[in-house]
Amino acid sequence: MIAVEAITFQYSPGPVFEDFSWRVQRGDTWAVLGPSGCGKSTLLALLAGLLLPSSGRVRIDGAALLRPRPQTGLILQDYGLLPWATVRQNAGLGLKVRRFYGADGIHAPRDPVPGRSVDFWLDRLGLVPVADQYPAQLSGGQRQRTAIARTLLLQPDLLLMDEPFSSLDTPTREALQVLTMELAAEQNLTLVLVTHALEEAALLGRKILLLHEPPNRLADLVDNPGAGNPAYRESRAYAGLCQDLRRRLEMIPVRPR
Ligand code: ADP
Ligand code: MG
Repeated sequence: MIAVEAITFQYSPGPVFEDFSWRVQRGDTWAVLGPSGCGKSTLLALLAGLLLPSSGRVRIDGAALLRPRPQTGLILQDYGLLPWATVRQNAGLGLKVRRFYGADGIHAPRDPVPGRSVDFWLDRLGLVPVADQYPAQLSGGQRQRTAIARTLLLQPDLLLMDEPFSSLDTPTREALQVLTMELAAEQNLTLVLVTHALEEAALLGRKILLLHEPPNRLADLVDNPGAGNPAYRESRAYAGLCQDLRRRLEMIPVRPR
């Protein structure tokens, strides 16, 4: 589905990616792991079409990505909710914006399948009890679930998540990790989740892309076929993988900042 073809990207002197290639198949669940500053968010912005490489290209389903694509959902750490709108209004916002431009399936995805309305997603994400509350009245987990509802209502086929659970407490984070696994399977999503937490990468990523200090030319690819179900967290394979990832991360030199 995604082909990253020999891209080079740089903000200032040194490139973050140099002649870097990577492939994501439809339906894959990838975790992108690496230390702070290695280029995870930059890679996600390149996949989202928010940044363009200076050479090489990103293709999605064969087409060169030159601008953001309406069928791609993007979830960030800080939720991006409107403070003056309720949970229900925030969840429906993307749909409202899309109707303004016309849901022709090209410039914007089509309207949701019948039965997958705002109410369906509020219910699926456990937000019915807080549907008429404002973001300031919500917990961090409820805010992120509202952002997820807003994105899934638009029926993305590709979901990009940038450290979506980093600011949540442990039980909330673990519940949302499980929910994300369920949703990715239910909705047939291709998922690319960026994280600096190796345990999260090991739990969610059926494949893991391990980035190094820039410039990234080659990244480690780690297969993790057991990922994607909550019981995996208790397995020996998971414990072994976490140990392996920890070793690999420790091999990455830390730059002075
Ligand atoms: P990560 O998400 O892995 O922490 P980023 O992709 O945010 O890393 O950043 C990769 C590198 O690019 C870092 O060295 C960072 O300082 C630099 N960088 C990120 N955004 C910008 C920007 N807008 N302008 C200049 N440099 C940037
Ligand atoms: Mg980042």
